[in-house]
Amino acid sequence: MFKYLMPTKVIVGENSVKENAGELVLGTKCMIVTGKTSGAKSGALGDVTDVLKDMGIEYLVYDCIGNNPTIEECVEGGKAAREFGADFLIGIGGGSPLDACKAIAVYAVNEPIEGSDFEMHDIFKGNFKTKPLPMAAIPTTAGTGSETTPYSILTLHKINNKQSFSHPDVFYKVAFLDGRYTVNLPLQIARNTAIDAMSHLLEGFTDKKSSPASDYIALEGLRIIGKYVDNLRNGNFTASICTDLLWAATLGGIVISQTGTTIVHSMGYALTYHKDIPHGMANGLLLGEYLERTKAVLPEKTKAYEEAFGMKLDDIKKFLAQCLPCEAVFTEEELVRWSEVSIKAKNVPVCPFDITQQDEIDIYKKCLLKDRR
Ligand code: NAP
Ligand code: FE
Repeated sequence: MFKYLMPTKVIVGENSVKENAGELVLGTKCMIVTGKTSGAKSGALGDVTDVLKDMGIEYLVYDCIGNNPTIEECVEGGKAAREFGADFLIGIGGGSPLDACKAIAVYAVNEPIEGSDFEMHDIFKGNFKTKPLPMAAIPTTAGTGSETTPYSILTLHKINNKQSFSHPDVFYKVAFLDGRYTVNLPLQIARNTAIDAMSHLLEGFTDKKSSPASDYIALEGLRIIGKYVDNLRNGNFTASICTDLLWAATLGGIVISQTGTTIVHSMGYALTYHKDIPHGMANGLLLGEYLERTKAVLPEKTKAYEEAFGMKLDDIKKFLAQCLPCEAVFTEEELVRWSEVSIKAKNVPVCPFDITQQDEIDIYKKCLLKDRR
């Protein structure tokens, strides 16, 4: 038995925002949640505000979201939305603003008060009474697939890590994929985010929650990214290629909505939290060794994704290494400490091979210690 849920309407193509203006407007008063620069730099913010002005919708641009947003930033954003009286949100940006927008949608209508029904951290238990505000998404990176997941990953200093919350009510109502918004991404961000999408597709394809529906979608996403490996190596992109890559990343989001991610993601969070390594790069550093261990237990699936991607695993590993220059230095002591946390993550049990804390230490060492890579 398997189930399939994807409630987000996805509109794909250049100028999709302006040509589908009616789909963007989900209420009467809008707060736009975006990063410090990504909304403006991508051109998406300009298109959205043009549409809102044309339609006479009052809006507030909330461009305060940093990378790897903290829970506190989202509580602040919720307060801003409440004070403005927003009845819908538009998230514009990479995974950071898109994830923050989901938490802001919750906090806007569920004021967190210590000792009350809804405290700040209750969001992780889905313990909120009022339905979050409706949201539209416009991704400006082709990576996280946040536009089609019920997940929001927040930085939680209290646990010295990142933690996700998941709730069916934070699926975006609608997402617009337009490659004009990602065509000028700095190359390293384009690579990191494409590798995050690869990671979603490959983890979802191989983890224990994969299903015929998610497998079918994962292979299609891998086929698309595989077509553009040379572009990712050389940095040659057009808006049309970028729209394809956005679609592949969205497929990755659809896949992990069904399957979740596995140890690549849970082990990667420590690299981002403690070493400020971008999320996609953190996954990519660990992905090759995960796939190597998966090959031993899933030889047929390995062949299937190699065929879809158009590369053997050894070449995929070389591609990852070429695209991910990492200067960070790690110590054995750090890796052991991080494994104590990551082995307890909720996505460990779906790993396709048996995994102990010692295995995670070995994976970290093999991938991260310079003399072992
Ligand atoms: P990001 O943190 O959203 O953005 C990285 C950088 O790219 C930022 O400096 C951002 O600028 C810049 N940027 C974004 N779009 C741009 C554009 N079009 N042109 C120029 N610069 C641009 O990176 P991300 O990899 O997309 O998202 C990572 C976050 O998503 C992490 O917190 C991760 O945990 C989360 N995530 C969520 C899911 C999910 O299912 N919800 C899945 C995987 C990952 P600004 O600072 O100005 O925005
Ligand atoms: Fe990810």
